[in-house]
This record gives sequence, structure tokens and C-alpha cells, in this order.
Amino acid sequence: MPVPEPFASPRWRTAAACAGLPPQIIFARREVEARPALEACRHCPVARRCEESVAPAESYFDGVSAGRLWRNGRLVRLRGQYVAQSHVTPEGDAAGAA
Ligand code: SF4
Repeated sequence: MPVPEPFASPRWRTAAACAGLPPQIIFARREVEARPALEACRHCPVARRCEESVAPAESYFDGVSAGRLWRNGRLVRLRGQYVAQSHVTPEGDAAGAA
């Protein structure tokens, strides 16, 4: 499985909570397969950078970024809550959540 360019080599990627996970988990298209990566996002120190680099909607991304699962650049509705801590407002709401 080819690794999408934003994930291929940037230095921030080495600090990612999902750094040790295999690509088929990070770039999974279904929640059941992506769950380890989604769980990692909860405490990832580079979640915001990940989302900015991947730009999931613009890149028609498949996989996990910042606690969300994307398929063809569209958000996949998840059963679990995995929002990255960097995306939680001081009030406890997930920023950008509908
Ligand atoms: S936000 Fe999630 S997918 Fe992105 S680098 Fe961090 S753990 Fe990996």
C-alpha cells in the first residue's frame, strides 16, 4: 500500500502517536480496522499538524487523521469518540464537531 505524501517523511510524523502502527491501520477505510489509529489520535501531540498536512477533504484522503476517519475525502460517521485532545475546546466540545 503506497503511503500518501503528507505521511511519507515529514519530521512531525516521528512524534505521531500512531508512528509504530502499520499503514493498513492508518489508511484503513473502516472504523473496525482503523480503531488502533483512532485511539492513538486521542493523545497525539501533532494532531493539528497532521490534519493541516493531510487536508483530508482536499486530498480525497482515505484513512485516519486527528481522530477522524475519512473515505474519499469525506468524513465517515464513527461509533466511537476519538477526537484528538488538541481539537477539544476548553468547554469540552470537539472543535468542528456537528
Ligand atoms: S493525529 Fe492520529 S493519524 Fe494523525 S499523526 Fe496523530 S495519531 Fe497519527
